[in-house]
Amino acid sequence: MPDANANTEGATRELLVELLGEFWRRGWVSGTGGGICGPADGGGLLLAPSGVHKERVRTDEFFTVDPSDGHVVRSPDRRDLRPSECSSIFCLAHRTWGAWSVVHSHALSAVLAGDVAADDGTDHVAIRDLEMLKGIPGVTNTDVHLVPVIRNTPREPELVSQLETAFADPRFRSARAVVVRDHGAYIWGDDVLAAKRHTEVYHFLFEALVARRGRNTEDRS
Ligand SMILES: [Zn+2]
Repeated sequence: MPDANANTEGATRELLVELLGEFWRRGWVSGTGGGICGPADGGGLLLAPSGVHKERVRTDEFFTVDPSDGHVVRSPDRRDLRPSECSSIFCLAHRTWGAWSVVHSHALSAVLAGDVAADDGTDHVAIRDLEMLKGIPGVTNTDVHLVPVIRNTPREPELVSQLETAFADPRFRSARAVVVRDHGAYIWGDDVLAAKRHTEVYHFLFEALVARRGRNTEDRS
């Protein structure tokens, strides 16, 4: 792909479709769950449709929403599509962090990371002693990285108030992810490739956290 096209909306749509397929193959957006957004020309957010097979989303099936209030400014031609339920959360991450791309994962590793917090009776997971921590901006492999964990709700937009609280908490200032118990995670970045990198990094960190917890439990038994 020529570099001159790297920032056009058409290229972004192609990249979002490619990532949905890639994340589906890794089990992060399976069963029509999960989602992604990226920058549209003119300052909007491109939003994947709701309740569809994520590996089959086409470039002309994205909604464009205004991130200042989440209202849809452009709909795809297919009238049977609805915008993702993630819209209000993606817009909140954009307004709070300047994130132009957010991934919503339904990965098992994120759910199990939430279980670790529940078992510990805390509102976060603490990740340490991993080289991969360097993949999060401003974090080193000697840091203890805290990721907030919030409770699930019947509908995704109802998570917004808990996310606002987590975003305002100074303990979580370096986090680029929030885990939702029994559900998955939201992971963001300044642009689509940053969100992709953070998504890959956090899934590794969640998997490592859960695997180490399992090993330590076995050692004690
Ligand atoms: Zn979800």
